[in-house]
Amino acid sequence: MADTALDQLKRSGRIVVVGASLAGLRAAEVMREKGFAGSLTLIGDEPHEPYDRPPLSKQVLLGKADAERTLLPRRRDIDAAWRLGVAATGLDMAARTVKLADGEEVPYDRLLIATGVRARPWPNEVEAELAGVFTLRTREDGAGLARALAAGPRRVLVIGAGFTGSEIASACRERGLEVTVAERGNGPLVGALGGVIGAVAAELQRENGVDLRTGISVTALEGDSTGRVRAAHLSDGTTLECDVVVVGLGAQRNTEWLAGSGLGAGPRGIACDAGCRAFDLRGIVTDDIYVAGDVARSPHALFGYQFLSLEHWGNAVAQAETAAHNMMSESTDRRPHLWVPAFWSSQFGVNIKSVGVPSMGTEIMITQGSRSERRFTGVYGYQGRVIGAVTFDNGRWLQFYEKQIESTAPFPPPFTTVDRRPDGQRPIPADFPDPSVPTHGPTITLSGYSPAERRIATFTPAGH
Ligand SMILES: Cc1cc2nc3c(=O)[nH]c(=O)nc-3n(C[C@H](O)[C@H](O)[C@H](O)COP(=O)(O)OP(=O)(O)OC[C@H]3O[C@@H](n4cnc5c(N)ncnc54)[C@H](O)[C@@H]3O)c2cc1C
Repeated sequence: MADTALDQLKRSGRIVVVGASLAGLRAAEVMREKGFAGSLTLIGDEPHEPYDRPPLSKQVLLGKADAERTLLPRRRDIDAAWRLGVAATGLDMAARTVKLADGEEVPYDRLLIATGVRARPWPNEVEAELAGVFTLRTREDGAGLARALAAGPRRVLVIGAGFTGSEIASACRERGLEVTVAERGNGPLVGALGGVIGAVAAELQRENGVDLRTGISVTALEGDSTGRVRAAHLSDGTTLECDVVVVGLGAQRNTEWLAGSGLGAGPRGIACDAGCRAFDLRGIVTDDIYVAGDVARSPHALFGYQFLSLEHWGNAVAQAETAAHNMMSESTDRRPHLWVPAFWSSQFGVNIKSVGVPSMGTEIMITQGSRSERRFTGVYGYQGRVIGAVTFDNGRWLQFYEKQIESTAPFPPPFTTVDRRPDGQRPIPADFPDPSVPTHGPTITLSGYSPAERRIATFTPAGH
């Protein structure tokens, strides 16, 4: 049989992965699994081999795990050339080369971009530089913040009550530290889960001793004569003394290095098709550049073909696997990335999980359990169908609702459920903030054209 271009690629091609973290590593493993025998280069601007981020806001802050010991397990040997501690600074799509900060140009036949996101810094650069002011994204951030908390500060201020900010507040309370959370919206987690669930999260924080202040912005941070933060000024005119500040204002996508390359990359991420192939600036799909993980935005059939950007661990793995599969396949064998978004968080002793896209929901119905007991399932509805679900300490039901989302089941659910209470008989408005008003940022960002009411007759998730 004649040698195809794919055979040649698999035998002796050059694959470059930019972004040496969760998505980059998992993709590299799948490429090798699929028989790629050519050269594989992983480029990462951090000096470390791929490590896991979720423990950084959980076990590491509690002193239960060391930030240095969070390396991701390897599923197989990837026999790669690692270029760590050096950033990619440019892409030449015509010459098929990636330019590095040290001046080297790395040629590729196929490129995977998995550069993720970084923590949005405190906007005032001088204040951001004060000792005691932290963001949390990297291993160094986690180690530094863990040290600061272990030193027993008098008060910690967390700016922004998204998932990361709320988990940090939870860790502070678990350590017995005084903590204030300042949130511009009307409750914690409202960007991701809406005001109904935000109210539950607010009660949870206050019951656990968090000084939660909603509808409040931090206007300035103040340092002492040694350059250490000592106070924060709030929009209600008050001043709060604090010696540790954690900025939890969401994330920014790492796409600046692609400016001028002609790739469809910008502040909202890198647009790609459902098969993970990047779009160029003109909206034409490229055939040799793929995207995966937090930096990607791709259309999803279940959610009105809107482009979804997901900052979810499970999505990074699933999308990396799909991208790698497609990079190693003929066009007829490619498959779409149709992962149903799923997310978990643990805070104040409660396990919070969500599936689907809650933030698309206009209504919510508490189908099981009760909010006052902090053990419940909330189902989100959009245009008469189930679009998302959240559980507080009720995770075993999530898979059931995932199937409801996949099959575009009607909302409100017409069936009875175990443990449905009288207040869960009817949907209520989910109370999401106006998307034009900035909050700490949801972990799912929707963009693209408005979803139609279209229903999908059959839906086969990736990998099933
Ligand atoms: C504190 C914390 C807690 C989290 N908790 C949860 C959780 O409970 N549940 C959940 O689902 N998700 C959680 N996440 C999110 C999850 O960790 C991410 O979804 C996941 O890390 C995404 O992987 P990625 O490979 O796409 O991107 P990243 O992990 O962001 O990796 C991208 C890599 O590319 C590098 N890079 C960027 N630009 C360049 C460049 N120009 N050249 C070279 N390298 C570059 C970056 O430095 C980074 O190493 C959490 C994240 C954090 C930070």
